[in-house]
Amino acid sequence: MISIEVIQRTAEQLMAKAAIEIPQDYLAGLQTTAAEEDGDLSSFVLQAMLENYEAAKEDRRAMCGDTGCPRWYVKMGNEARIEGGPVALEAALRRATANATSNIPLRPNRVHPLWRTDHDNNVGIGAPEIEYGFEPDGEWIDLITVHKGGLFGTDYRMLFPSDGIEGIKRFFLDSLVAFGKRGLACQPAIIGIGLGGSKDACMVLGKRAACLRTVGDRNPDPKIAALEDEFKELGNSIGMGAMGFVGKSMVIDCNIEVGYCHTGGMQMSVHAFCLSSRRAVARVHADGRVEFRTDPDWFTDYQRRETVEWDIPESQVKSA
Ligand code: SF4
Repeated sequence: MISIEVIQRTAEQLMAKAAIEIPQDYLAGLQTTAAEEDGDLSSFVLQAMLENYEAAKEDRRAMCGDTGCPRWYVKMGNEARIEGGPVALEAALRRATANATSNIPLRPNRVHPLWRTDHDNNVGIGAPEIEYGFEPDGEWIDLITVHKGGLFGTDYRMLFPSDGIEGIKRFFLDSLVAFGKRGLACQPAIIGIGLGGSKDACMVLGKRAACLRTVGDRNPDPKIAALEDEFKELGNSIGMGAMGFVGKSMVIDCNIEVGYCHTGGMQMSVHAFCLSSRRAVARVHADGRVEFRTDPDWFTDYQRRETVEWDIPESQVKSA
């Protein structure tokens, strides 16, 4: 049984890690980009950001004044049992979000959409978002927090099969130009693209592609992996660099996730996980051990469910 006290304590630690410590994969990507950038202002921004990450870690302060919108992804092994059940888990994550907002501190960004009511703690109706995934084996629970910035760097378009790869490229470029010119997300960003699904599933896929995969990771489908490489290069060839200034450093990486869709359509979403690509992960085991990491490792074979059926582990066949 996983203790709820350990879950809440770990969740509070994760909130601080996400806000303060830039993940190593993003940092390495930014260092490579900074070494290649030759636009004056873009280079200046990249160097300033590298120094800013160091300062944030040293001072234990948030890396950006806008600490984004905290959200949670929870993945559970099939045998995981949580003290108090899923309701206690959600209460612990909401309490951790509120406590972290005042202790770190985070900017209390969440307000009611109409009345602008502010509980001053990033908690409210539907906030923070908590999404779930499961894996066939294990007594563990993975807690993943993402402090999503680049709030306005998101777009959706209903494409049709006849639009083809050229149509996908056109929307990708339209989106990046709009994000850069209008300051909708601070670049360079990890760009997530969702293709297919229904409209809502497409948005979820794209956001997860941006937030739950690491820089340098590639889709297991070699043709999609080749598109990811091509789109990264394409995104860095439009003449815009860091913060939309002249340069070639818009995109730290491009991740694409797909889902089966209606035969008549080809939904597409584009999401920017901004210059403050904040995520932190911990695996909490039934025996109380906690392991911290920065790779969400969300997109396993089971999460992508590529086959109609998949092998059910021996242990579950017996207990069924
Ligand atoms: S887009 Fe990201 S880096 Fe820019 S202000 Fe928002 S949170 Fe900070």
